[in-house]
Amino acid sequence: MSADAADDYDVVILGGGSGGYACALRSAELGLSVALVEKGKLGGTCLHVGCIPTKALLHAAEVADVAREGERFGVRTTLEGVDMPGVNAYKDGVVGRLHKGLQGLVKAAAIEYVEGAGRLDRPHTVVVGDRRLTGKNVVLATGSYAKSLPGLEIGGRIMTSEQALSLDHVPARVVVLGGGVIGVEFASVFRSFGSGVTIVEALPRLVAAEDEALSKQLERAFRKRKIAFKTSVRFAGASQNGDVVTVSLESGETIEADLLLVAVGRGPVTDGLGYAEAGVTIDRGFVPTDERLRTNVDGVYAVGDIVPGLQLAHRGFAQGIFVAEQIAGLSPVPIVESGIPRVTYCDPEIASVGLTEAQAREQHGEVETYEYNLGGNGKSQILGTQGFVKLVRAKDGPIVGVHMIGARMGEQIGEAQLIVNWEAHPEDVAGLVHAHPTQNEALGEAHLALAGKPLHAHA
Ligand SMILES: Cc1cc2nc3c(=O)[nH]c(=O)nc-3n(C[C@H](O)[C@H](O)[C@H](O)COP(=O)(O)OP(=O)(O)OC[C@H]3O[C@@H](n4cnc5c(N)ncnc54)[C@H](O)[C@@H]3O)c2cc1C
Repeated sequence: MSADAADDYDVVILGGGSGGYACALRSAELGLSVALVEKGKLGGTCLHVGCIPTKALLHAAEVADVAREGERFGVRTTLEGVDMPGVNAYKDGVVGRLHKGLQGLVKAAAIEYVEGAGRLDRPHTVVVGDRRLTGKNVVLATGSYAKSLPGLEIGGRIMTSEQALSLDHVPARVVVLGGGVIGVEFASVFRSFGSGVTIVEALPRLVAAEDEALSKQLERAFRKRKIAFKTSVRFAGASQNGDVVTVSLESGETIEADLLLVAVGRGPVTDGLGYAEAGVTIDRGFVPTDERLRTNVDGVYAVGDIVPGLQLAHRGFAQGIFVAEQIAGLSPVPIVESGIPRVTYCDPEIASVGLTEAQAREQHGEVETYEYNLGGNGKSQILGTQGFVKLVRAKDGPIVGVHMIGARMGEQIGEAQLIVNWEAHPEDVAGLVHAHPTQNEALGEAHLALAGKPLHAHA
């Protein structure tokens, strides 16, 4: 179609990742006319190079560990090896099926799907090739990219998560630059596949955005798994020579490896897209919004990773849905950022929601905390995992933070998020019966203890 009056919509969305496509689907559900512009693949980072493929790798890693450790459970197994083409075929199959399903949803919703790179021309017009799509409302949802460090060029044996997702072999030695979520997940996968792994992190602890107790327990678990890590150490440079990449640190130390994975965070994709020229305020590349996700320009919204805050797919989904409902006049309730659940899928898994102990002290003054050790939890003993559930409570008030670590603890985040977001008191949760034997009981036991009636709690 060439430029004509028919290219007018209630909503034009730039970017078809988690934030953009969720906004498109909900807008269509609400009877709005929608155009969705995507230059790559529908589903964006999460589906193609983020959440889904990494979690497939982590599952393959778990299978490798189970095969290697069968003896522990009295089952004779050996790990013959990891066939990366086979792992990639499994991972790509998962992604492919979900991609097809999502394409079907968008098609069935009668969304005008426009392939190509779009650009904001005026506040309410997006140009894609020779098409000018005009929206009463425009939603910016162009997502994020993997950052590097000054002077560190990606290529060859130096890669970001994107290239590391499709390796055709298991590297013998890996240096992971960055001990945040993406760094520790890849470190976990590589170790399970048999690589020697060293994490280099400039901050004083791994997963530094989490409660300090979780970092300490993860570091203990990684030491046990022989995942090496150096914290409070700054990267100085890296060079490649034939089969080796040499990483140098400001401490003067050098580390040789077959692969350097750069996992130093993700930056917003906003450059050169006409945002600033259309009058949209940009702050260090991000698009600031108010709590209703409105930019400073009337009728222009932003969702997902380009909005400062947690860079998570489910935050993008929720923001996309919120904006559609806002546009449709439903006055949705604003999303509380601290109520968004966070899961890091390394082994052991980390799951948290709400305030860390330090944040709670800042916000609430006096707080109470309780750590329930998984040693007292039957299912965790069966699985052979260690860890804890930590509760943070405002003094005599509701639970404001839940922080969990241990195998499969990500699955416990559903109840934890209800507890925090519904501002439950320990006594409210202590009255609920948790099924036995599940890891979910650990959450129940922690609340029993904080309510003053511990059952399987060891001092
Ligand atoms: C390795 C990795 C693992 C992750 N794991 C998890 C996880 O387990 N759980 C979780 O919640 N989150 C995870 N994330 C984060 C998650 O992927 C992002 O938070 C999410 O994808 C953000 O959604 P978005 O819509 O803002 O952006 P994106 O998903 O990045 O989508 C933006 C889309 O916009 C398109 N686009 C950009 N510019 C243009 C243009 N000019 N014209 C047209 N289209 C354009 C892009 O092609 C892209 O498809 C992970 C990320 C990575 C990298």
